[in-house]
Amino acid sequence: MKKIAIIGSGPSAFYAAQALFKSEVDIKVDMFEKLPTPFGLLRGGVAPDHQQMKTVSKLYDKIANNEHFKFFGNVEIGTDIEFETIKDCYHATIVAVGAETDRKMNIPGENISGSHTATEFVAWYNGQPSYQTNTFDLNGESAIIIGQGNVAVDVTRILSKPIDSLNKTDITDNAIQHLKNSKIKDIYMIGRRGPAQAAFTELELKELGKIDGVNVIVHDELDLSDEDITETEQSSKARKNIEQLKTIKTAEKHETPNKTIHILFYSSPIEIFEGNKKIKKVKFIKNRLEGIAGAQKAIPTEETFEINCNLLFRSIGYRGVPFKGLPFDDRKGIIPNQDGQVVGNDNLQIDNVFVTGWIKRGPSGVIGTNRSDSIETVTTCLKYIDNTNIQNNTAIETILSEKNIKFITYSDWKQIDEYEIKQGEKVGKPREKLTSITKIMEVLKK
Ligand code: NAP
Repeated sequence: MKKIAIIGSGPSAFYAAQALFKSEVDIKVDMFEKLPTPFGLLRGGVAPDHQQMKTVSKLYDKIANNEHFKFFGNVEIGTDIEFETIKDCYHATIVAVGAETDRKMNIPGENISGSHTATEFVAWYNGQPSYQTNTFDLNGESAIIIGQGNVAVDVTRILSKPIDSLNKTDITDNAIQHLKNSKIKDIYMIGRRGPAQAAFTELELKELGKIDGVNVIVHDELDLSDEDITETEQSSKARKNIEQLKTIKTAEKHETPNKTIHILFYSSPIEIFEGNKKIKKVKFIKNRLEGIAGAQKAIPTEETFEINCNLLFRSIGYRGVPFKGLPFDDRKGIIPNQDGQVVGNDNLQIDNVFVTGWIKRGPSGVIGTNRSDSIETVTTCLKYIDNTNIQNNTAIETILSEKNIKFITYSDWKQIDEYEIKQGEKVGKPREKLTSITKIMEVLKK
């Protein structure tokens, strides 16, 4: 049998395992995850009020039920165990660690207290253990979100929704307690380009327009330039977004809304100002677009404006981080690869190391996009696997035990899963997540 290690346990990792098991080669898969729980962004990224999307975990359960699958949670490669050791114990290793950080705006004041990444906030309200001590000041009247992708929409929605509707999701109790006392009235979601270039999708935008007691104001005119018209002709996403923006813009508004979402286009933050050791206001410059349809760029004009706020989230895209022991393309934030096979600094392919998901292609696409991506990687991997040998035949369990690492198996995870669902039932939620490794170990009596 061929032994494959998969590092990471998000959607791309599970789709890689699925593709390996579907192949004609007899395969054993060991999946390593630094968190105690599996599923990556499906658990820690997908918005808590998008439960339907999370049902794909049932498919991942089926994959994990394969008798040749083992899960090693709470094991960080590079810290608990060296990557070289993993590489030596398997015929091939597939790295599926996603994009763990975010892009920077590189403007003055970006690090002032109150300026956060959207990814921190998302990880916090989704119960990721390492983000539970983060704090977000929800006592001001305004919050600004920079960027107009679906993550920006998620953050805007979580800040705007009435607490009664969030109560029924798997958002953490800690987040509920904070959001319940939020004084935020105005939420600004700001894009550097125009409505035809917005990265969000129609369904997500539509949801914003349907939040009880919340007004959505589209501040710009929705006039399209010739280049924009060409773009909308070429992209059904852009066309649908424009139609939805028109619907939202002309929709009847509440006279006294609970909160107001402001959508602004053609604006880039240029400086964040401090007052009382936290954010006070943000200065923006208006942009115009320049370039051919499909490649229009934001060019600053002379016009500026300011918005007061104590809270800002930059939501301008995730970014991969270097993985110890492998080359890294710093410009793209990915591990360089050819059809999933890692390519070294000397441009030569590394025989038994592969990548899939966001660390392979960058942070784009929806969960399902990872399926075809992982199939491509596995196809490449299977072409090379015959020529690789295992250097070290010691069972990985033995190596982990010798290092005194308390790893979590898939049946441990199912125990956690059951516990969380039971705790959730008591309060009318799909689950109440365990948000610390200590609590998880207590439940498992490890
Ligand atoms: P994204 O879709 O790539 O959007 C990034 C946004 O940031 C764009 O509006 C981009 O504008 C803007 N931006 C980039 N650099 C900027 C800068 N320096 N200054 C100002 N704005 C800047 O990224 P994302 O929202 O993080 O989402 C990542 C992926 O996950 C996407 O594929 C998304 O669809 C997916 N996702 C899906 C869902 C869902 O299906 N419900 C939910 C969450 C995430 P430009 O276009 O001008 O670059």
